Amino acid sequence: MRNEKPVVGVIGVGHLGQHHVKHYKLLNDVNLAGLYDIDSKKANIVANTYKSTSFNNLSDLLTICDAVSVVTPTETHKHVAEQAINKGCHVFIEKPITKTLEEADHLLKLAEKENVLVQVGHIERFNPALSALKPYKITPKFVEIQRLAPYTVRGTDVPVVLDLMIHDIDILLSIVKSPIKNIRASGVSILTDSVDIAHARIKFENGTVASIVSSRISQNKVRKIKLFQKNLYATIDLLLMLTEIYHVIDKPDDSSEALKTASFTYNGDKKLIAYEKPSIDEKDVLQLELKNFVLSLTGKETPIVDGIAGRTALAIAIKIHDMIIQDIH
Ligand code: NAD
Repeated sequence: MRNEKPVVGVIGVGHLGQHHVKHYKLLNDVNLAGLYDIDSKKANIVANTYKSTSFNNLSDLLTICDAVSVVTPTETHKHVAEQAINKGCHVFIEKPITKTLEEADHLLKLAEKENVLVQVGHIERFNPALSALKPYKITPKFVEIQRLAPYTVRGTDVPVVLDLMIHDIDILLSIVKSPIKNIRASGVSILTDSVDIAHARIKFENGTVASIVSSRISQNKVRKIKLFQKNLYATIDLLLMLTEIYHVIDKPDDSSEALKTASFTYNGDKKLIAYEKPSIDEKDVLQLELKNFVLSLTGKETPIVDGIAGRTALAIAIKIHDMIIQDIH
């Protein structure tokens, strides 16, 4: 680390990158050196808004930074992150880590050689609605995930699997701790020449089955996860930050009366279904994610989504996308 308090920069200040600038300004544990964007007009506007400095030259910014956020379009991640790592900067790379596995492997190898951290922007892992599951023993038999979004031009530089489904692949892998046994996938192109709606069925070695639907042609945004396991059903709304748990109580007693929402009889035994709604402290998820990166720079934390996790999610996303393409042709 060049500095006692990490000095960071932001590369690419479009739709998402400007929020990285905002949060680095707000975080106490870091100093924001400035930002760089090939669109200098945009860079100046964002620098003025957040009272930061716009650099005309990426190399000048990298020379003074300990770490940078790479928030440029996905096809540029490899080239931009490579320059940063070569200058000894730790990198936070927005998801997907890169467009191809070869690019991801190249970056991870380079980062290891230069001894720098790689964190990948799978932001949903910091969603408090997902964190609310932590007190429960989650071992689902069946997982259903839906991520639907209205069409926008942004993100269509990559197929829907690499833009949207990759979030849920990463979440799924963080929940189901078992190797994948097989995958089936199908999809369709509706508005673009690429795949706009995708469905994947992932079966794990431990028997868990997951069904993921992702679409960028929807009237409203939906981001929901449903988990079914022995005697427990959990529903997580990542957009509303709402988590609800229903679980069976084997031996009802008076103290459980307050919780009961329904009862049923099975094999002659009366059972209650308890309903729990964990209280969720709604926080800005990007701030939580960047704080994890910043604290990882000084060894106080480790990245929750490191380069390997980003690479693993990409590998499965590419596999699903390739299967869809084969299925279409
Ligand atoms: P955007 O098009 O709004 O912004 C990209 C910015 O990068 C633009 O300002 C552009 O001028 C700049 N740029 C392009 N090439 C550059 C280069 N070589 N050097 C410096 N600047 C360059 O895109 P966006 O929606 O902000 O997406 C950026 C990245 O963030 C993408 O990888 C995307 O997949 C990812 N993203 C992640 C999430 C999430 O939920 N984690 C959400 C949206 C976008």
